Amino acid sequence: MVVEAGCILSAAKERAAEDGMFFPLALGAQGSCQIGGNVSTNAGGINVLRYGMTRDLVLGLEVVLPDGKIWDGLSTLRKDNRGIDLKQLFVGSEGTLGIVTAASLKLNPLPAQRATALVAVASLDDAVALYRLARRECCDLMSAFEFMPPTAFALAQAAMPDLVMPLSNEYQAYVLMEISGSGLIDVADLMQRFLELGLERSLVLDGVVAASESQARMLWNFREAMVEGQVKRGRHLRTDVSVPLSNLAAFVREAELQLAAELPECLAISYGHVGDGNVHLNVLPPVQTSEAERHAIIKRAKSIVNGVLADYRGSISAEHGIGREKMEEFRAALPPVQAAMLAAVKAALDPEGRMNPGVLF
Ligand SMILES: Cc1cc2nc3c(=O)[nH]c(=O)nc-3n(C[C@H](O)[C@H](O)[C@H](O)COP(=O)(O)OP(=O)(O)OC[C@H]3O[C@@H](n4cnc5c(N)ncnc54)[C@H](O)[C@@H]3O)c2cc1C
Repeated sequence: MVVEAGCILSAAKERAAEDGMFFPLALGAQGSCQIGGNVSTNAGGINVLRYGMTRDLVLGLEVVLPDGKIWDGLSTLRKDNRGIDLKQLFVGSEGTLGIVTAASLKLNPLPAQRATALVAVASLDDAVALYRLARRECCDLMSAFEFMPPTAFALAQAAMPDLVMPLSNEYQAYVLMEISGSGLIDVADLMQRFLELGLERSLVLDGVVAASESQARMLWNFREAMVEGQVKRGRHLRTDVSVPLSNLAAFVREAELQLAAELPECLAISYGHVGDGNVHLNVLPPVQTSEAERHAIIKRAKSIVNGVLADYRGSISAEHGIGREKMEEFRAALPPVQAAMLAAVKAALDPEGRMNPGVLF
């Protein structure tokens, strides 16, 4: 599907669905963000584990270069191995190398069936183990696997008081899982059999499967309202970090331990895209904290999280990019060889610095 850069993501998805097709990029901002912004930030979201990030969903781009020339790279070829894949330079480069004006997007068949379940597990370690089991048993049909702590429900209800908690909130961790597909596969049966297997292996402690589209929506509302609930608590540290999947649970445990020891008055909440090793480890100061105190707490909390992250060789930006907010941290940790390569690319395409300066300038 070829779209202009100003197309709103949800409009692109709706248009594809009219033809029974699916553009899998799915994120909270989809009603307002634009394809050009999605491309330029290499946006991710909840379906990455199955379909990849924007980088994997773009077949071609049209770009206005800094000198005003137009690069027509708007190919719709699925396979094209003619040398360096130039479009990938513009994906995720945050407007530093040119202005994206159109994109050709890779579509998939629209899944006709969806099974959504909220599952209680004993720990993040078990959530990771359950994810690995799901990868094996549900193969490519798993389209989302989100991890949430028990505090998520209180936060979600603060933002959406009508939400009804479908499981006891006394478990240590929860997983919101979705299997989807079209054609001859019965995804509801697959979900049922998978959860039974999880119970047998003592990975699933309790669970609820949505019986209708509206129940599935309600389960997703928890995930989305939880983010809004955090905003209601005032300014706080929001992170978007990633570590190798095998280290995810250990990283979160270590970071939360250090945060509890140094900032015991704060609420640390970790949730996110388990399958991508991507966690939002956010730190919320008490509600009555002044702005000046919040500033100091956020700074300290960020330094704790980044310190542990460095030990695990993780990334400070799994999805959201660098922008202005993470520029300083990114620069500080940038190896000289990498800095020189980035500078060379920037100088080659934008020698007069007309575009977004980005991280190096
Ligand atoms: C509620 C919410 C939930 C989100 N959830 C997720 C999530 O789960 N996963 C995830 O990955 N992201 C998430 N995001 C971030 C989201 O992916 C980005 O905000 C979005 O993709 C950026 O698109 P935009 O149109 O808003 O771009 P803008 O914010 O306008 O721009 C973003 C950057 O791209 C550049 N840019 C914009 N358009 C162009 C263009 N045409 N050519 C060149 N450069 C351009 C801008 O200069 C800027 O640097 C979320 C954001 C919100 C608000």
